[in-house]
Amino acid sequence: MTETIAPPTVKPIHHWIGGKSVEGTSGRSGPVWNPATGEQSGAVDFATVEEVDAAVRTAKEAFVSWRQVSLSRRAELFFKIRQLVDEHRGDIARFLTLEHGKVTSDALGEVARGLEVIEYACGIPTLLKGEYSEQASGGIDVYSIRQPLGVVAGITPFNFPAMVPMWMWAPAIACGNTFVLKPSEKDPSASVYVGELLKEAGLPDGVFNVVHGDKVAVDAILEHPDIAAVSFVGSTPIARYVYETGTSKGKRMQALGGAKNHMIVLPDADVAMAADAAVSAAYGSAGERCMAVSVVVAVGDVADPLIGAIKERLPNVKVGPGLEEGNEMGPLITREHRDKVAGYLDTAAEQGATVVSDGRELEFEGDGFFLGVSLIDEVTPEMDAYRDEIFGPVLSVTRVGTYDEAVKLVNENPYGNGTAIFTRDGGVARQFQFEAQAGMVGVNVPIPVPVAYYSFGGWKASLFGDRHIYGPEGVDFYTRGKVVTSRWPDPATSKVDLGFPQTR
Ligand code: NAD
Repeated sequence: MTETIAPPTVKPIHHWIGGKSVEGTSGRSGPVWNPATGEQSGAVDFATVEEVDAAVRTAKEAFVSWRQVSLSRRAELFFKIRQLVDEHRGDIARFLTLEHGKVTSDALGEVARGLEVIEYACGIPTLLKGEYSEQASGGIDVYSIRQPLGVVAGITPFNFPAMVPMWMWAPAIACGNTFVLKPSEKDPSASVYVGELLKEAGLPDGVFNVVHGDKVAVDAILEHPDIAAVSFVGSTPIARYVYETGTSKGKRMQALGGAKNHMIVLPDADVAMAADAAVSAAYGSAGERCMAVSVVVAVGDVADPLIGAIKERLPNVKVGPGLEEGNEMGPLITREHRDKVAGYLDTAAEQGATVVSDGRELEFEGDGFFLGVSLIDEVTPEMDAYRDEIFGPVLSVTRVGTYDEAVKLVNENPYGNGTAIFTRDGGVARQFQFEAQAGMVGVNVPIPVPVAYYSFGGWKASLFGDRHIYGPEGVDFYTRGKVVTSRWPDPATSKVDLGFPQTR
């Protein structure tokens, strides 16, 4: 008897417009993979220009009434959203593991950090408080208010399919805007699921919309005259393109790009703590984090003991399917990306570095996009492994003689997202905080992602635009200021005066 094997089911993934699922009409779609098995699990619709326009029109209509909703009602709704996201954090995490590949504990961590941004948005009545000056001039009061922009859009990367969209839609909607999200086409399901949760929470239809797609959808967003502002998170070349195109169309833009995060370890550091931190920050989420540590800069004689301690920890990193309990690192996002990351091990060796641990040697069953953890020593700034954002489980070590040389590496790097220093010397740590050319600095903390009531953002090629994302700068980005100068009628003082108004 011949056994028939059922083909894996390929789930269609549609847009979410006006509070309902809307099937794409372009005839174009993209594959969504289960990276742990190597099978295609979904096919996501790619939007046409007209479909993006339909989402924007829906959001524009919804804006008329959404901006009238009182602050106390918005706060109440965000508490409900918080409750639902909290109750369904396991369901959201499951989508992340199935389509991105990250292990369940990491996926739950992602949702938890996104939830913090939703919690911050619950305080919107306080966040939008203005200022008031009574009797700024005789009988005249002056006050400032912040108002929403209208329809705003978010374009997001594959590596945080739930959290990064939350960085955008939560403050944008709480501020009174309506939102169009274009999530990564590689792991789009979490965004649609969140759309369903927002509807269940009571968010009016059309306030939150999702259009899927590729460059066609992104360009349609950037060109659309009714979109007032765009937040982008992704790689640096696309961030630059998105920022330049959006600003040329008169939009308010913030575009967060890639990174090459250095972790400096000084000779006085706690070596065991630094090694634990380096392993966690380099290989967590298979290195597919914009805040991943990709270079350890070992200063002076700490290099040998530090590399020894990191190497000792590598065999204990449990790599395997994200849904299997106990695994700490899952596969990479696609086969193509896995192969590209593995290629750096060849070029590093050819260019003179020492491959201490080669992740390709680890064997895996099945066709998943797995790669073991790799460590490369004696990496110098000219090498590809140092210059490129590898975005995979490959940690480079660069040896330098002094603190000054280490800081020079950080500051001369074209990226400036995060950086960290490991030391027991408070004075040196403070000096580093003062002079590091990066937007987020950790002192004995390897992944210094700011809490939700601060803002997240890098410097140099890691951010195009003036505002960091979420926190106070997020509220600032999604609103614009208005100052009102007011006087109540007082016939006794009224007269014609053609001179320029002066204060009295
Ligand atoms: P990406 O730049 O390939 O894609 C990001 C978004 O842009 C996606 O929605 C994608 O559909 C769209 N896009 C891709 N190519 C495009 C093109 N040619 N024209 C228009 N739009 C296009 O990034 P990714 O691979 O999904 O994500 C990984 C990158 O994101 C890494 O570089 C990482 O450092 C960066 N990232 C940065 C941050 C940050 O906060 N700075 C956070 C997460 C990820």
